[in-house]
Amino acid sequence: MHKVIGLKIDVDTFIGMKYGVPKIASLLSTFGIKASFYVPMGRDNTGRTVKRIFRKGFLKKARRIGVVKTYGAKTLLYGLLIPGPRIPNRNKSILKQILNEGHELGIHGYDHIFWHDRIKTLGFENTKRELEKAINTYKALLNVEPKSFAAPGWVTNVHALKLLKSYGFLYSSDTRGRFPFYPMMGGEVVRLMQIPTTLPTLDEVIGIHGNEPETLVKYYESLLTDSINILTVHAEIEGKNWIEFLKIYIERTFKLGYTYKTLANIANTLKQEELPLFEVVYGYVEGRAGYVCISLDT
Ligand SMILES: [Zn+2]
Repeated sequence: MHKVIGLKIDVDTFIGMKYGVPKIASLLSTFGIKASFYVPMGRDNTGRTVKRIFRKGFLKKARRIGVVKTYGAKTLLYGLLIPGPRIPNRNKSILKQILNEGHELGIHGYDHIFWHDRIKTLGFENTKRELEKAINTYKALLNVEPKSFAAPGWVTNVHALKLLKSYGFLYSSDTRGRFPFYPMMGGEVVRLMQIPTTLPTLDEVIGIHGNEPETLVKYYESLLTDSINILTVHAEIEGKNWIEFLKIYIERTFKLGYTYKTLANIANTLKQEELPLFEVVYGYVEGRAGYVCISLDT
């Protein structure tokens, strides 16, 4: 595949779903781009991230990207002082619209915060319960089978990979890496295509590689390869204060001759024999507090 960009839109919060997704979808339609959206199937418990303040690097990052400005004060209380709203149930019409417009709709966990904080050491049964709650909600709301999964916070475990394979998923997108591959995790090979995010996320580069959309787009341009590029954007960031970045990014990459495909489309086009086998480990990327799953492909 030559000069392809897969746009992966992660929804983390109720507000991001309600306001960010329509804003991004409307921008994409002006460019005729189809993208992949991933939505948590349970409640917005973002308020529980308050615990993360004690984690290394969080405060520095919170200051850099402006956490209250990005997420809003109310979102920061969801699941903490007030019960978090169910993200998909109360935004069913937006989910249907996404599908009707020809975008891909995948699952971004059930409870984003729980997955992010616990999945590394979560056992088989609890991992299974979390995945099945998400899949059942998706099916009940939309009457179609989910085919793709993107792990919250780019962290997963080998049980999740094996379960998704057994459910007949087309691929999952849980890691940081350079090219789609078959994962080996904890010594086990799972024949479920893994499509890694190849580019950094905007919140990892704001304040480090630039502060303005134009400067940041230039930085991103320097990172593009002639093969498959996966950019993860967030409904809460690019769908809110940074929509101009996304617009300039798309205009610039169009000029450079890139085409946009959904991750499902990329997965269907890739030949199985083209996929290398890479080990997945927990590691760190610049600009992000806490560990993520990365592919060892060097
Ligand atoms: Zn997320």
